[in-house]
Amino acid sequence: GRQVRGEWPLVGKADFSASATEIPPRPSAAIVILCRNSDINGILPSLDDLELTFNAHPLTSYTYVFLNNHDFNVHFREKITAYLTTARARFGGPSASQPDIRFGQIPPEHWDVPGNINLEKMKTGWSDLIKANIPYAASLSYRQMCRFQSGFFFRHPLLQDFKYYWRVEPDVKFSCNIVPSQGAAPTSWDAKADGMGDFFDPFRWMAANKKKYAWVLSLTEYPATIRDLWLHSLRFFKANTQYQSPGLTALDFVASRNRVGLSYNHCHFWTNFEIADLDWYRSEGYIKFFEELDRTGKFFKWRWGDAPVHSIAAAWLLSKDEIHQFTNIGYTHDPFTACPRGEQYLSRCKCDPQTDFKYDSGSMSCQRQWDLVAGTDSKAKILEINN
Ligand code: GDP
Ligand code: MN
Repeated sequence: GRQVRGEWPLVGKADFSASATEIPPRPSAAIVILCRNSDINGILPSLDDLELTFNAHPLTSYTYVFLNNHDFNVHFREKITAYLTTARARFGGPSASQPDIRFGQIPPEHWDVPGNINLEKMKTGWSDLIKANIPYAASLSYRQMCRFQSGFFFRHPLLQDFKYYWRVEPDVKFSCNIVPSQGAAPTSWDAKADGMGDFFDPFRWMAANKKKYAWVLSLTEYPATIRDLWLHSLRFFKANTQYQSPGLTALDFVASRNRVGLSYNHCHFWTNFEIADLDWYRSEGYIKFFEELDRTGKFFKWRWGDAPVHSIAAAWLLSKDEIHQFTNIGYTHDPFTACPRGEQYLSRCKCDPQTDFKYDSGSMSCQRQWDLVAGTDSKAKILEINN
Protein backbone atom coordinates (compact mmCIF):
# COMPACT_ATOMS: atom_id res chain seq x y z
CA GLY A 1 0.00 0.00 0.00
CA ARG A 2 0.78 3.68 -0.12
CA GLN A 3 3.03 5.13 2.57
CA VAL A 4 1.12 7.91 4.28
CA ARG A 5 2.91 8.34 7.58
CA GLY A 6 4.09 11.77 6.64
CA GLU A 7 0.52 12.92 6.14
CA TRP A 8 -0.44 12.85 9.80
CA PRO A 9 0.87 16.22 10.91
CA LEU A 10 -1.27 16.33 14.04
CA VAL A 11 -0.32 12.91 15.30
CA GLY A 12 2.78 14.23 17.00
CA LYS A 13 4.97 11.66 18.65
CA ALA A 14 2.92 8.64 17.67
CA ASP A 15 5.01 6.03 15.91
CA PHE A 16 2.87 3.72 13.87
CA SER A 17 5.68 2.38 11.71
CA ALA A 18 4.38 -1.17 12.08
CA SER A 19 0.91 -0.08 11.19
CA ALA A 20 -1.38 0.22 8.30
CA THR A 21 -0.06 2.08 5.32
CA GLU A 22 -3.59 2.37 4.06
CA ILE A 23 -5.15 4.68 6.62
CA PRO A 24 -5.99 7.94 4.88
CA PRO A 25 -5.12 11.32 6.41
CA ARG A 26 -7.48 12.76 8.97
CA PRO A 27 -10.19 14.83 7.29
CA SER A 28 -11.01 18.31 8.50
CA ALA A 29 -13.70 17.59 11.06
CA ALA A 30 -15.01 18.64 14.46
CA ILE A 31 -17.20 17.31 17.22
CA VAL A 32 -19.80 20.03 17.84
CA ILE A 33 -21.76 20.41 21.05
CA LEU A 34 -24.49 23.02 21.49
CA CYS A 35 -25.23 23.49 25.16
CA ARG A 36 -25.65 25.81 28.13
CA ASN A 37 -23.37 26.39 31.10
CA SER A 38 -25.89 24.44 33.16
CA ASP A 39 -25.39 21.37 30.94
CA ILE A 40 -21.90 20.73 32.31
CA ASN A 41 -22.88 17.65 34.32
CA GLY A 42 -24.63 16.10 31.33
CA ILE A 43 -21.73 16.74 29.01
CA LEU A 44 -18.90 15.17 30.99
CA PRO A 45 -20.22 11.59 30.73
CA SER A 46 -20.83 12.08 26.97
CA LEU A 47 -17.22 13.26 26.62
CA ASP A 48 -15.94 10.31 28.66
CA ASP A 49 -17.65 7.92 26.26
CA LEU A 50 -16.42 9.76 23.18
CA GLU A 51 -12.83 9.87 24.40
CA LEU A 52 -12.84 6.24 25.52
CA THR A 53 -14.39 4.83 22.37
CA PHE A 54 -13.07 7.19 19.72
CA ASN A 55 -11.43 10.52 20.17
CA ALA A 56 -8.51 9.89 22.53
CA HIS A 57 -6.65 7.92 19.90
CA PRO A 58 -3.72 9.76 18.26
CA LEU A 59 -5.22 9.10 14.82
CA THR A 60 -8.52 10.73 15.69
CA SER A 61 -8.18 13.52 18.30
CA TYR A 62 -10.69 15.71 16.51
CA THR A 63 -11.34 19.27 17.65
CA TYR A 64 -14.22 19.88 20.06
CA VAL A 65 -16.35 22.95 19.37
CA PHE A 66 -18.75 24.07 22.10
CA LEU A 67 -21.44 26.53 21.06
CA ASN A 68 -23.82 28.54 23.23
CA ASN A 69 -26.22 31.43 22.75
CA HIS A 70 -24.73 32.91 25.95
CA ASP A 71 -21.07 33.20 26.85
CA PHE A 72 -19.54 30.07 28.35
CA ASN A 73 -18.45 31.00 31.84
CA VAL A 74 -14.99 30.45 33.28
CA HIS A 75 -16.15 27.50 35.36
CA PHE A 76 -17.50 25.74 32.25
CA ARG A 77 -14.35 26.35 30.20
CA GLU A 78 -12.00 25.31 32.97
CA LYS A 79 -13.98 22.24 33.89
CA ILE A 80 -14.26 21.00 30.28
CA THR A 81 -10.60 21.65 29.57
CA ALA A 82 -9.29 20.00 32.73
CA TYR A 83 -11.61 17.04 32.45
CA LEU A 84 -10.91 16.37 28.76
CA THR A 85 -7.17 16.71 29.26
CA THR A 86 -7.24 14.02 31.94
CA ALA A 87 -9.61 11.77 29.97
CA ARG A 88 -7.30 12.07 26.96
CA ALA A 89 -4.29 11.00 29.01
CA ARG A 90 -6.18 8.09 30.54
CA PHE A 91 -7.68 6.73 27.34
CA GLY A 92 -5.28 7.82 24.64
CA GLY A 93 -2.11 6.02 25.68
CA PRO A 94 1.45 7.33 25.63
CA SER A 95 1.19 9.07 22.26
CA ALA A 96 -2.03 10.92 23.07
CA SER A 97 -2.12 14.58 22.10
CA GLN A 98 -3.61 17.46 24.04
CA PRO A 99 -7.29 17.91 23.23
CA ASP A 100 -8.10 20.84 20.95
CA ILE A 101 -11.11 22.61 22.48
CA ARG A 102 -12.84 25.75 21.21
CA PHE A 103 -15.66 27.70 22.82
CA GLY A 104 -17.92 29.90 20.75
CA GLN A 105 -20.81 32.24 21.27
CA ILE A 106 -23.61 32.25 18.76
CA PRO A 107 -24.15 35.64 17.12
CA PRO A 108 -27.55 37.07 18.15
CA GLU A 109 -28.70 37.22 14.53
CA HIS A 110 -28.43 33.41 14.41
CA TRP A 111 -30.44 32.87 17.59
CA ASP A 112 -32.77 35.73 18.40
CA VAL A 113 -36.31 35.93 17.11
CA PRO A 114 -36.06 37.99 13.89
CA GLY A 115 -37.52 41.50 14.06
CA ASN A 116 -40.12 40.83 11.38
CA ILE A 117 -41.69 37.99 13.40
CA ASN A 118 -44.81 38.85 15.36
CA LEU A 119 -44.21 36.55 18.29
CA GLU A 120 -47.58 37.18 19.92
CA LYS A 121 -49.27 36.11 16.71
CA MET A 122 -47.04 33.06 16.42
CA LYS A 123 -47.83 32.02 19.98
CA THR A 124 -51.44 31.43 18.95
CA GLY A 125 -50.15 28.16 17.52
CA TRP A 126 -48.77 26.95 20.84
CA SER A 127 -52.04 26.07 22.58
CA ASP A 128 -52.69 22.98 20.43
CA LEU A 129 -49.27 21.62 21.33
CA ILE A 130 -49.75 22.43 24.99
CA LYS A 131 -53.14 20.70 25.06
CA ALA A 132 -51.64 17.64 23.38
CA ASN A 133 -48.85 17.50 25.98
CA ILE A 134 -46.14 17.77 23.33
CA PRO A 135 -42.65 18.17 24.86
CA TYR A 136 -41.39 21.79 24.88
CA ALA A 137 -44.83 22.98 23.68
CA ALA A 138 -44.51 26.25 25.62
CA SER A 139 -40.78 26.83 25.18
CA LEU A 140 -39.50 29.69 23.07
CA SER A 141 -35.84 28.78 23.61
CA TYR A 142 -36.44 25.25 22.29
CA ARG A 143 -37.91 26.76 19.12
CA GLN A 144 -34.88 29.05 18.81
CA MET A 145 -32.63 26.03 19.24
CA CYS A 146 -34.49 24.08 16.53
CA ARG A 147 -34.24 27.02 14.13
CA PHE A 148 -30.53 27.45 14.90
CA GLN A 149 -29.85 23.76 14.31
CA SER A 150 -31.87 23.93 11.10
CA GLY A 151 -30.32 26.94 9.46
CA PHE A 152 -27.42 28.48 11.32
CA PHE A 153 -25.01 26.17 13.15
CA PHE A 154 -22.95 25.54 10.01
CA ARG A 155 -22.49 29.29 9.52
CA HIS A 156 -20.80 29.77 12.88
CA PRO A 157 -17.30 31.27 12.44
CA LEU A 158 -15.71 28.41 14.41
CA LEU A 159 -17.10 25.85 11.98
CA GLN A 160 -15.69 27.56 8.89
CA ASP A 161 -12.43 25.64 9.42
CA PHE A 162 -14.15 22.28 9.05
CA LYS A 163 -15.70 20.13 6.34
CA TYR A 164 -17.34 17.47 8.52
CA TYR A 165 -19.05 17.67 11.87
CA TRP A 166 -20.37 15.22 14.43
CA ARG A 167 -23.20 16.53 16.56
CA VAL A 168 -23.09 15.48 20.19
CA GLU A 169 -25.50 16.38 23.00
CA PRO A 170 -25.34 16.24 26.79
CA ASP A 171 -26.40 12.94 28.37
CA VAL A 172 -25.82 10.72 25.35
CA LYS A 173 -23.92 7.42 25.51
CA PHE A 174 -21.52 5.86 23.04
CA SER A 175 -21.28 2.20 23.86
CA CYS A 176 -18.98 0.58 21.28
CA ASN A 177 -15.23 0.94 20.91
CA ILE A 178 -14.66 2.50 17.54
CA VAL A 179 -10.85 2.76 17.38
CA PRO A 180 -8.35 0.44 19.11
CA SER A 181 -7.82 1.37 22.74
CA GLN A 182 -4.88 3.10 24.41
CA GLY A 183 -3.63 4.59 21.18
CA ALA A 184 -2.71 1.15 19.84
CA ALA A 185 -1.42 1.09 16.30
CA PRO A 186 -4.15 0.00 13.93
CA THR A 187 -3.37 -3.09 11.90
CA SER A 188 -6.09 -2.78 9.31
CA TRP A 189 -8.19 -0.23 7.51
CA ASP A 190 -10.85 -1.08 5.00
CA ALA A 191 -12.25 2.00 3.30
CA LYS A 192 -15.39 0.19 2.23
CA ALA A 193 -16.22 -1.96 5.22
CA ASP A 194 -18.39 -0.31 7.83
CA GLY A 195 -18.48 -3.33 10.07
CA MET A 196 -16.03 -2.63 12.89
CA GLY A 197 -12.60 -3.32 11.51
CA ASP A 198 -9.49 -2.97 13.61
CA PHE A 199 -9.61 0.77 13.04
CA PHE A 200 -12.82 2.58 12.24
CA ASP A 201 -13.25 6.32 11.98
CA PRO A 202 -16.68 7.60 10.90
CA PHE A 203 -15.13 10.81 9.53
CA ARG A 204 -12.51 9.05 7.41
CA TRP A 205 -15.16 6.58 6.35
CA MET A 206 -17.51 9.39 5.21
CA ALA A 207 -14.70 11.05 3.26
CA ALA A 208 -13.52 7.80 1.66
CA ASN A 209 -17.06 6.90 0.61
CA LYS A 210 -18.22 10.41 -0.38
CA LYS A 211 -21.06 10.42 2.14
CA LYS A 212 -22.70 13.70 3.03
CA TYR A 213 -25.11 12.70 5.77
CA ALA A 214 -24.99 9.93 8.36
CA TRP A 215 -27.31 8.85 11.16
CA VAL A 216 -27.96 5.95 13.52
CA LEU A 217 -31.64 6.08 14.53
CA SER A 218 -34.78 7.26 12.79
CA LEU A 219 -38.29 7.78 14.06
CA THR A 220 -41.58 9.57 13.47
CA GLU A 221 -42.24 13.16 14.52
CA TYR A 222 -45.22 14.46 16.52
CA PRO A 223 -47.47 15.70 13.69
CA ALA A 224 -48.63 18.74 15.70
CA THR A 225 -45.08 20.15 15.77
CA ILE A 226 -44.51 20.17 12.01
CA ARG A 227 -47.77 21.53 10.67
CA ASP A 228 -47.34 23.13 7.22
CA LEU A 229 -43.69 22.02 6.99
CA TRP A 230 -44.34 19.58 4.17
CA LEU A 231 -46.51 22.08 2.30
CA HIS A 232 -43.73 24.68 2.27
CA SER A 233 -41.07 22.08 1.49
CA LEU A 234 -43.00 20.70 -1.47
CA ARG A 235 -43.64 24.18 -2.76
CA PHE A 236 -39.94 25.01 -2.60
CA PHE A 237 -38.64 21.85 -4.19
CA LYS A 238 -41.22 21.86 -6.98
CA ALA A 239 -40.31 25.44 -7.83
CA ASN A 240 -36.57 24.80 -7.56
CA THR A 241 -35.96 21.49 -9.27
CA GLN A 242 -32.40 22.56 -10.10
CA TYR A 243 -31.38 21.72 -6.55
CA GLN A 244 -32.77 18.21 -6.66
CA SER A 245 -30.16 15.48 -6.62
CA PRO A 246 -29.69 14.00 -10.08
CA GLY A 247 -29.14 10.56 -8.53
CA LEU A 248 -31.65 8.25 -6.91
CA THR A 249 -32.91 10.04 -3.84
CA ALA A 250 -34.25 8.87 -0.49
CA LEU A 251 -37.49 10.77 -1.05
CA ASP A 252 -39.54 7.71 -0.18
CA PHE A 253 -38.06 7.72 3.30
CA VAL A 254 -40.09 10.84 4.09
CA ALA A 255 -42.91 10.75 1.54
CA SER A 256 -46.02 8.64 1.12
CA ARG A 257 -48.08 8.64 -2.01
CA ASN A 258 -51.82 8.83 -1.84
CA ARG A 259 -54.65 10.17 -3.95
CA VAL A 260 -53.80 13.80 -3.19
CA GLY A 261 -50.18 13.35 -4.19
CA LEU A 262 -47.21 13.25 -1.85
CA SER A 263 -47.60 13.62 1.87
CA TYR A 264 -45.14 13.57 4.73
CA ASN A 265 -44.99 10.27 6.61
CA HIS A 266 -43.32 12.01 9.62
CA CYS A 267 -40.14 9.93 9.37
CA HIS A 268 -36.87 11.65 10.15
CA PHE A 269 -33.29 10.91 11.01
CA TRP A 270 -32.80 11.53 14.73
CA THR A 271 -30.44 14.47 14.54
CA ASN A 272 -29.12 14.40 18.10
CA PHE A 273 -26.63 12.02 16.46
CA GLU A 274 -25.59 13.36 13.10
CA ILE A 275 -22.37 13.29 11.12
CA ALA A 276 -22.51 15.43 8.03
CA ASP A 277 -20.62 17.26 5.35
CA LEU A 278 -20.91 20.93 6.33
CA ASP A 279 -20.42 21.96 2.71
CA TRP A 280 -23.75 20.35 1.98
CA TYR A 281 -25.45 22.53 4.61
CA ARG A 282 -23.57 25.53 3.25
CA SER A 283 -24.79 24.79 -0.29
CA GLU A 284 -27.14 27.14 -2.13
CA GLY A 285 -29.92 24.55 -2.30
CA TYR A 286 -29.96 23.92 1.43
CA ILE A 287 -29.68 27.58 2.38
CA LYS A 288 -32.43 28.68 0.00
CA PHE A 289 -34.64 25.88 1.32
CA PHE A 290 -34.07 26.98 4.91
CA GLU A 291 -34.66 30.64 4.07
CA GLU A 292 -37.99 29.80 2.44
CA LEU A 293 -39.05 27.88 5.55
CA ASP A 294 -37.80 30.61 7.84
CA ARG A 295 -39.75 33.32 6.00
CA THR A 296 -42.98 31.65 7.10
CA GLY A 297 -42.20 32.24 10.79
CA LYS A 298 -43.52 28.79 11.53
CA PHE A 299 -40.44 27.65 13.45
CA PHE A 300 -42.07 29.87 16.08
CA LYS A 301 -45.74 29.24 15.38
CA TRP A 302 -45.59 25.45 15.56
CA ARG A 303 -42.41 23.84 16.72
CA TRP A 304 -40.67 22.70 13.55
CA GLY A 305 -37.75 20.49 14.56
CA ASP A 306 -34.33 20.45 12.95
CA ALA A 307 -34.65 16.69 12.49
CA PRO A 308 -37.55 16.80 10.01
CA VAL A 309 -35.99 19.84 8.32
CA HIS A 310 -32.61 18.14 7.83
CA SER A 311 -34.27 14.90 6.77
CA ILE A 312 -36.63 16.41 4.21
CA ALA A 313 -33.72 18.38 2.77
CA ALA A 314 -31.50 15.30 2.59
CA ALA A 315 -34.28 13.35 0.92
CA TRP A 316 -34.54 15.89 -1.91
CA LEU A 317 -31.06 17.31 -2.23
CA LEU A 318 -28.88 14.24 -1.76
CA SER A 319 -28.70 10.97 -3.60
CA LYS A 320 -29.57 8.06 -1.37
CA ASP A 321 -25.99 6.81 -1.77
CA GLU A 322 -24.78 10.00 -0.09
CA ILE A 323 -26.84 9.18 3.00
CA HIS A 324 -25.51 6.53 5.34
CA GLN A 325 -26.77 4.77 8.43
CA PHE A 326 -24.01 3.73 10.82
CA THR A 327 -25.27 0.41 12.14
CA ASN A 328 -21.96 -0.27 13.89
CA ILE A 329 -22.17 2.54 16.45
CA GLY A 330 -23.71 1.97 19.86
CA TYR A 331 -25.62 5.07 20.89
CA THR A 332 -28.20 6.13 23.45
CA HIS A 333 -30.13 9.35 23.71
CA ASP A 334 -32.99 8.75 26.10
CA PRO A 335 -35.34 7.07 25.58
CA PHE A 336 -33.87 5.24 22.56
CA THR A 337 -30.78 3.10 21.95
CA ALA A 338 -28.97 1.80 18.92
CA CYS A 339 -26.97 -1.30 19.79
CA PRO A 340 -25.24 -3.29 17.07
CA ARG A 341 -26.04 -6.99 16.86
CA GLY A 342 -23.56 -9.67 15.86
CA GLU A 343 -20.57 -11.65 17.05
CA GLN A 344 -18.06 -8.99 16.10
CA TYR A 345 -19.60 -6.59 18.62
CA LEU A 346 -19.38 -8.84 21.66
CA SER A 347 -15.93 -7.56 22.56
CA ARG A 348 -16.49 -3.98 21.45
CA CYS A 349 -19.87 -2.93 22.79
CA LYS A 350 -21.17 -2.62 26.32
CA CYS A 351 -24.80 -2.12 25.30
CA ASP A 352 -27.37 -4.90 25.29
CA PRO A 353 -28.60 -5.70 21.75
CA GLN A 354 -31.99 -6.44 23.30
CA THR A 355 -32.34 -2.71 23.90
CA ASP A 356 -31.82 -1.87 20.22
CA PHE A 357 -34.71 0.30 19.04
CA LYS A 358 -34.30 0.00 15.28
CA TYR A 359 -36.67 -2.91 14.67
CA ASP A 360 -38.97 -2.53 17.68
CA SER A 361 -42.34 -3.41 16.22
CA GLY A 362 -45.12 -0.97 16.94
CA SER A 363 -42.56 1.67 17.93
CA MET A 364 -41.92 5.04 16.35
CA SER A 365 -38.88 3.64 14.54
CA CYS A 366 -38.65 4.36 10.80
CA GLN A 367 -36.02 1.69 10.22
CA ARG A 368 -38.26 -0.43 7.99
CA GLN A 369 -39.09 2.60 5.87
CA TRP A 370 -35.38 3.25 5.41
CA ASP A 371 -34.68 -0.38 4.56
CA LEU A 372 -37.35 -0.19 1.91
CA VAL A 373 -35.85 2.95 0.43
CA ALA A 374 -32.27 1.76 0.60
CA GLY A 375 -33.33 -1.25 -1.43
CA THR A 376 -35.71 0.47 -3.87
CA ASP A 377 -35.54 2.66 -6.92
CA SER A 378 -37.25 5.95 -6.09
CA LYS A 379 -36.24 7.80 -9.25
CA ALA A 380 -39.53 7.10 -11.01
CA LYS A 381 -41.52 8.84 -8.32
CA ILE A 382 -39.43 11.98 -8.57
CA LEU A 383 -39.99 12.19 -12.32
CA GLU A 384 -43.71 11.85 -11.75
CA ILE A 385 -43.74 14.78 -9.38
CA ASN A 386 -42.00 16.97 -11.89
CA ASN A 387 -44.42 16.17 -14.69
P1 GDP B 1 -34.22 17.10 23.06
O1 GDP B 1 -33.08 16.17 22.77
O2 GDP B 1 -35.09 17.33 21.86
O3 GDP B 1 -34.99 16.73 24.26
O4 GDP B 1 -33.60 18.56 23.35
P2 GDP B 1 -32.33 18.98 24.20
O5 GDP B 1 -32.77 19.66 25.44
O6 GDP B 1 -31.36 17.83 24.34
O7 GDP B 1 -31.69 20.08 23.25
C1 GDP B 1 -31.06 19.74 22.05
C2 GDP B 1 -29.66 20.33 22.01
O8 GDP B 1 -29.71 21.73 22.08
C3 GDP B 1 -28.79 19.89 23.17
O9 GDP B 1 -27.45 19.82 22.71
C4 GDP B 1 -28.94 21.03 24.17
O10 GDP B 1 -27.80 21.17 24.98
C5 GDP B 1 -29.09 22.22 23.25
N1 GDP B 1 -29.96 23.31 23.75
C6 GDP B 1 -31.30 23.27 23.92
N2 GDP B 1 -31.77 24.49 24.32
C7 GDP B 1 -30.71 25.30 24.41
C8 GDP B 1 -30.52 26.68 24.78
O11 GDP B 1 -31.47 27.41 25.09
N3 GDP B 1 -29.25 27.16 24.75
C9 GDP B 1 -28.18 26.39 24.39
N4 GDP B 1 -26.96 26.94 24.42
N5 GDP B 1 -28.30 25.10 24.03
C10 GDP B 1 -29.55 24.55 24.04
MN1 MN C 1 -31.26 15.89 23.57
